[in-house]
Amino acid sequence: MNYETVIGLEVHAQINTKSKIFCECSTEFGAEPNSNTCCVCTSQPGALPALNKKAVEAIVKTGLAMDFKINKQCTFARKQYFYPDVPKDYQVTQFEPPLCSMGKLAIVVDGKEKVINITRIHLEEDAGKLVHEVGSRKLDYSLLDLNRGSIGLMEIVSEPEMRSPEEAYQYLTELKNIIEYLGTSNCNMEEGRMRCDANVSIRPVGQQELGTRVEIKNMNSFTGVRDAITYEVERQKEVLAAGGKIHQETRLWEAEEGITKSMRSKEGALDYRYFPEPDLVPFDLPDSFIEEMRAQLPELPKAKKARFLKEYGLSEYDADYLTSTRAIADYYEGALNASKDKKAAAKPVANWISTELNGKLNASKKEISDSPVSSANLAKLVDMILGGTLSGKMAKTVFEEMYENSADPEAVVKEKGMAQISDESAIIKICEEAIAESPKAVEEFKAGKERAVGAIVGLVMKKSKGQANPQIVNKILVELLKK
Ligand code: ADP
Ligand code: MG
Ligand code: ZN
Repeated sequence: MNYETVIGLEVHAQINTKSKIFCECSTEFGAEPNSNTCCVCTSQPGALPALNKKAVEAIVKTGLAMDFKINKQCTFARKQYFYPDVPKDYQVTQFEPPLCSMGKLAIVVDGKEKVINITRIHLEEDAGKLVHEVGSRKLDYSLLDLNRGSIGLMEIVSEPEMRSPEEAYQYLTELKNIIEYLGTSNCNMEEGRMRCDANVSIRPVGQQELGTRVEIKNMNSFTGVRDAITYEVERQKEVLAAGGKIHQETRLWEAEEGITKSMRSKEGALDYRYFPEPDLVPFDLPDSFIEEMRAQLPELPKAKKARFLKEYGLSEYDADYLTSTRAIADYYEGALNASKDKKAAAKPVANWISTELNGKLNASKKEISDSPVSSANLAKLVDMILGGTLSGKMAKTVFEEMYENSADPEAVVKEKGMAQISDESAIIKICEEAIAESPKAVEEFKAGKERAVGAIVGLVMKKSKGQANPQIVNKILVELLKK
């Protein structure tokens, strides 16, 4: 039997606001446990929530960037559940309507574009964090840290439209890219600021009706999501092949073992008993607010790529690479703005970033935001190449030093006495010496063997410790020999 894979993803992204969604507590990561708390986010009786306007701004911008319909009604509901990470015993969330419905995200897999529809984005508050170990010591009780509790989240729920683990991976990558361009979340998965649940089912090819889905939780990287789905699809196929049935359940991804494990059945699904949150009065977003958010949208990846192609004459490949994250795009334009001649620098700077710098960052597992070479220093290096002070080969040596020690290329060149000699009078002197020391080559040249000049060029380069500009050397030697 041939099966088709069906995947829908739920992504939670912490919104990049300074304070939590219903109180003034800080959202800073890594603070002393329970230090970022107050009577609202620890759910003291009578404490009243007040909605953070910045959270609404962030979700509306995120929705607009992906063509969502923005529902003007802003309402909140209580979702009841009993678990120690939520001291109120309910979570404040949006039920119907969410703030954003039916958006789209284009992904590219195997060179083909596919548009994934996204059902909704709604606001909700994060839960606190249960701590089960301190250092390497496992506790036989649990500790509760409410610093994370009530930080604003965007929950982004896709339609079940992805058909392979790779499509899911690309969806997450694109989603993160757009959110990072917007700056509405910093999407750091290690800090738990972006989390993903994958819903996975299979069905016989050609069947319309969806198969029973399994929800996988506990994945903390995009590659983890891809691996977990790959494993889960195979598991489901095996169950069906053995004549079994898939049960609707929640499974956990055990990254170290590379398997999913059953956590709880969804059959007796929790009844969340949603009802309107009485402490947050429903209101309508004014059209002017939505338009203001639209006007504040930054240039998004597609538009930026088109502009890079047009304005800087880049290749498709370079434009793709340079807009693949906002950090790379900003670095690139930062370097161009620092260079003496933006137009001349556009292509060489692109090249240095996509080859030398990218290579070194990959090898040292660094992001461009932590690059030891600043964009201003890269601009200086390229300016020195364009100005004839450095040959391409010398520039690579200088670049090594820049990467190792965050060095300023001008200082490196000075310190090592590396500057390329382009001053003609200095080169003429060395050429004259070299000619005097190479009677055989001179004779051959005069007899018509033009290639013989190569030997004299070599000597000049040796005498100048490789610093003479070879093009100028060539030109001067020929002039002197033809005299
Ligand atoms: P729940 O709260 O029960 O997880 P949601 O509506 O929040 O429900 O999320 C459901 C997710 O599961 C959506 O991303 C949806 O696309 C996906 N989904 C629904 N049915 C299937 C299915 N049969 N196979 C795969 N994914 C599915
Ligand atoms: Mg779910
Ligand atoms: Zn608080």
